[in-house]
Amino acid sequence: MALLFLQCPPGSSLSSRPLLPRSFLLQMFPDSGLTIVNSSANPGLLRPSLVYGKSRETPHTLSLPLSLTLAPHFYPGVWIPKHSSTSTMSKKTHRSRVVAVVLVVLTVSVIAAIATMVIFFKIQTADMNPTSRPTISPSTTPAPPVTRLPRSVIPDRYKIFLHLQFYTRTPEFENTTNENQTERFTGNSTLFFKSVQRSSAIYLHSSNLTVFDSVVRNVDTGEVVESRVEYNHEWSEFLQVSLGQALEVDGNYSLSLKFEGWMAFLNGMFLSIYEERDSETLRFLVVTHMQPTDARKVFPCLDEPDLKAVFQLNVIHRRDSSVLGNAEIFDSSIIDDEWKITQFYPTPRMSTYLLALAVSEFTPTPSLHDRVQINTFARPEVTAAGHALFAANMTGKILQFFEEMLGINYPQKKLDQIAVLYLDPEIAAMENWGLITYLEEVLLYEEGVSSLLDKETITEMIAHELAHQWFGNLVTMKWWNELWLNEGFATYMTYKAVDQVEPHFKTEETAMARHLQAAFSQDVLASSHPLIPPPEKVQTNSEIKDMFDDTTYTKGAMILRMLVDIVEERVFNKGIRSYLLDFSYRNSETRDLWNHIQKAVNEDGGHTRVAEVMESWTTQTGYPVITINTSNGEVSQKHFLLNHSSESSLWWTVPIRVMSKSSGPSMVWLDTDSTVKKEELISKNEDWVLANVNWTGYYRVNYDPGNWQSLLTQLETEPQKIPIMNRGQLIDDVFNLARAKLVNVTLALNFTRFLRKETAFLPWELAIKNLKYYVHMFDRSEVYGPLQAYLRRQVSDLYHFFKNYTDIAAVPQDHTSQHNQVLAINLGCSSGLPECVSMARTMFSEWMNNTDYSIHPNLRSEIYCHGVAAGGVAEWEFAWRMFENSIDISEKEHLKEALSCTKKIPSLNRYLQYTLDPEKIRLADVASIISFVVRNVAGQAPAWDFVRANWDYVENEVSAGLLESITSRFSTQFELEQMQQFFVENNMQHSVDAQKCIEEVQVNIQWVHEHRDILHRWFLHEAAA
Ligand SMILES: [Zn+2]
Repeated sequence: MALLFLQCPPGSSLSSRPLLPRSFLLQMFPDSGLTIVNSSANPGLLRPSLVYGKSRETPHTLSLPLSLTLAPHFYPGVWIPKHSSTSTMSKKTHRSRVVAVVLVVLTVSVIAAIATMVIFFKIQTADMNPTSRPTISPSTTPAPPVTRLPRSVIPDRYKIFLHLQFYTRTPEFENTTNENQTERFTGNSTLFFKSVQRSSAIYLHSSNLTVFDSVVRNVDTGEVVESRVEYNHEWSEFLQVSLGQALEVDGNYSLSLKFEGWMAFLNGMFLSIYEERDSETLRFLVVTHMQPTDARKVFPCLDEPDLKAVFQLNVIHRRDSSVLGNAEIFDSSIIDDEWKITQFYPTPRMSTYLLALAVSEFTPTPSLHDRVQINTFARPEVTAAGHALFAANMTGKILQFFEEMLGINYPQKKLDQIAVLYLDPEIAAMENWGLITYLEEVLLYEEGVSSLLDKETITEMIAHELAHQWFGNLVTMKWWNELWLNEGFATYMTYKAVDQVEPHFKTEETAMARHLQAAFSQDVLASSHPLIPPPEKVQTNSEIKDMFDDTTYTKGAMILRMLVDIVEERVFNKGIRSYLLDFSYRNSETRDLWNHIQKAVNEDGGHTRVAEVMESWTTQTGYPVITINTSNGEVSQKHFLLNHSSESSLWWTVPIRVMSKSSGPSMVWLDTDSTVKKEELISKNEDWVLANVNWTGYYRVNYDPGNWQSLLTQLETEPQKIPIMNRGQLIDDVFNLARAKLVNVTLALNFTRFLRKETAFLPWELAIKNLKYYVHMFDRSEVYGPLQAYLRRQVSDLYHFFKNYTDIAAVPQDHTSQHNQVLAINLGCSSGLPECVSMARTMFSEWMNNTDYSIHPNLRSEIYCHGVAAGGVAEWEFAWRMFENSIDISEKEHLKEALSCTKKIPSLNRYLQYTLDPEKIRLADVASIISFVVRNVAGQAPAWDFVRANWDYVENEVSAGLLESITSRFSTQFELEQMQQFFVENNMQHSVDAQKCIEEVQVNIQWVHEHRDILHRWFLHEAAA
């Protein structure tokens, strides 16, 4: 599964696409407690999938265009079926209102279809007679499960019939705008299994399903075993099938169950929607998302990753729709005027969370591949416009690459991908075996609208999901605590694939470095977790979901990258090939992976003890900082913590790839918590020594002052001698060491000097990220002028490097250069570089004079913002008109942000006032607009005044994070007191959020107090130099 990209590359945009009709949400979830806050120029349309995704205050955060809250009862507790006429799910929580109307109209056809289902079920359960309640022999019952299923039953295969009653098109006989759709489904399933323990009960997972009519049969003898669906354990989501006699050890059995349920909201099986652009007609489709624990919402099953089975799926659906599943279609036939049945071939043996289906009218775009039939499905108009062509082209190439690299062919004959508008809020894509689901914006590419940089996202997404076809689907982690075996591998393999198919993306310098930084910043927090937590810490659904975080994905990938550097790529690849072969269609643990890599190391004559080296990195939270004294070769390590007074006794087995000015890279080891001496770390002839070459190690490095100085001199004289990855790493390390008070802040700033001549993206990106805090702390003080002057001086050459492209609104070929061009405009204009400001002003007025004037999609966000900033009331008015009239989402987003960039206080106040008027600004945008205004130095005070004056309104409509985004920039005693007074007035002084804000501002005040004078002097000196 790929998490939703929270931070898009600069200049990237969301593709234009239709939104979710408001009436649809209200209609689908009438009793859900769903509060839909919407009122924009486009009041009918909403888009929920990004709604409650995490929002981070960065210039390129995906926007969250509406807010929506779910009442607690929306996801109800597990119901307890008593299995009588009263045993239904809480009608409150499900769409009874929808159904009530629909059923009247649909009774005839539904009855016909149910009759069809009954026929199928009868065929399956022939000779089985549902029986009365059996007598249970308690002595053989396995202890009731706690959170994990007992292993008394080993699944072999499931035969599943699902009957979906929804319409892909609004039924013609209903001339209403609502209550004409149904999300009800019914079905039956037969689980074939082996009994490995004498047991008088079978436990399965089931959530929000009504399950009944169990039939258990001994497949070996044909004998029917008395059975009864007993109960669901409320919080474990277990369903118990009690038996009249114990199952025999080694006996082969089948368990048939009927069930009915309702589609869930963006998980399990759910209804999705889109609008045909020309006809404005609504179309419906059904898709699934089962990871990690939602297969149980679709059918009763053994829903744990190591209980793999073969799935044979049969779907009854409306005649005008078609179904995609994990496997190929075996047969599709018409049942009657209304219904059709589609039967699939059995899937490979796989985990329940990989099961998928999609019922839609989508159309395919094929990819080239010599053996596998690959199709990318999307809305018909999107397919016709060719928006899936880029993805289709990449998919064929990447699949071929993985087959060759891993030495194992993709095992199915077909691979489908589908681009949908809505998935679980924090998810961008899901690797279901043979049917990968993606959000449209990470799969579709629209020429002239999408940014070129969007191609990187699309390629990375496809590579990640295709890597899962081996790492995750073919070989699966035994339990969720080792999720990194899926996600760390998929993340690592993404770099390999992208590098192969699109080498000019230089994915190491962009995506990889971004991920490394994400891992470092999450893993330094007290809330982080070891890569592999003990299994007992990962038991409940929410504990399992929490595993899908930066640590699992990116720390996992980074420690694999570190291992590759230790054992060499050739040996590593050999190890993972034999690991995949050995565990195909099975489940593995981390130690299995190490064993196979160890075998490859041994065969190659190496001596690395893989498991021993990797243990400290997988079982401990955090990472070390190593300190090297290059005058005597002494090296030591300690746990890197931002709070330098914290104590920790953790230590790691650290591989140190080291080079010097005169000698190439070699490896030394630090495998103790004491200080040791290493010959290779001694500086010869006053040369510099550089550790963590190419930033392959997952740690930070500190040096003696003399070596820091030698590295600085090298960067300022001949930076190319230092590898590009290390030019970024040195900046990121030294700023973080300064934050932890291990080095002086002026040393960190000295490492930005060489940027004046630097044209590579990575060092610039990391410098700007790290300098952001300095800008925020000083932008309302006397330090700001010299700081801006310094940044202007530094960025000047970089700006001119791209000027020929920028001046004609064009972009360079090379992708990292495209990133850097956007950065140069952003920094140039925001630091007041005259030629940048004048370029933005000119280009913006060209656009004002001629709205057909086209600015390259990569550059729009920056030009709009700085055009408005450099202009006056007329520019702002123009941007407002364009914002009001635009129907293109990405364009609207650019403009929404640009409107906050003006330096004119009256315009800023007007914009803030507009957020009170839902006719002008939809409520969903209020928080992001206030945050944008806060980011503007001119907008800070107006935004704070506005929020305080309108707290009653703002409080109800925006996220808690807004207050923090305003106060996190406070750095004076006056601001602290003002804030505390505000908290008291609003009776918030004891809240956790308020305490967090107060603590943060106190840290800021202390930091500014300690650094103001020294930084003022430093910036004055450097700006004048
Ligand atoms: Zn994934």
